[in-house]
Amino acid sequence: MGNPDVPPGWSPPQAEMGQMTCGNCHRLLSYPQGAKHVRCACCQTANLVLEAHEVGNVKCDGCSVLLMYPYGAPSVKCSSCHFITKIGEHNRRPPASVQQGPPPLTRNPLH
Ligand SMILES: [Zn+2]
Ligand SMILES: [Zn+2]
Repeated sequence: MGNPDVPPGWSPPQAEMGQMTCGNCHRLLSYPQGAKHVRCACCQTANLVLEAHEVGNVKCDGCSVLLMYPYGAPSVKCSSCHFITKIGEHNRRPPASVQQGPPPLTRNPLH
């Protein structure tokens, strides 16, 4: 019974966990999927969680243009003034995708 594709000895993960690095001390943190924040056990920094496909927005500290940065980036370099803006809790914004509503969860099964 069960899945013939699963090799013996393989056990499924207990829960869906994500990983990110602490923005302050760069320690690798694990967090349950769906968590919005994860607190670093090392330095107690509350890190905002972005999903891997998400992109954040931050305002350039140099010229105030709105920059986008990929998930997990500790800093982003401005393409117009080349200033490097550090990504911190104070200047993080929720990704734009959040405001566009949930993705379609149901797909048409055959037909
Ligand atoms: Zn930390
Ligand atoms: Zn700039």
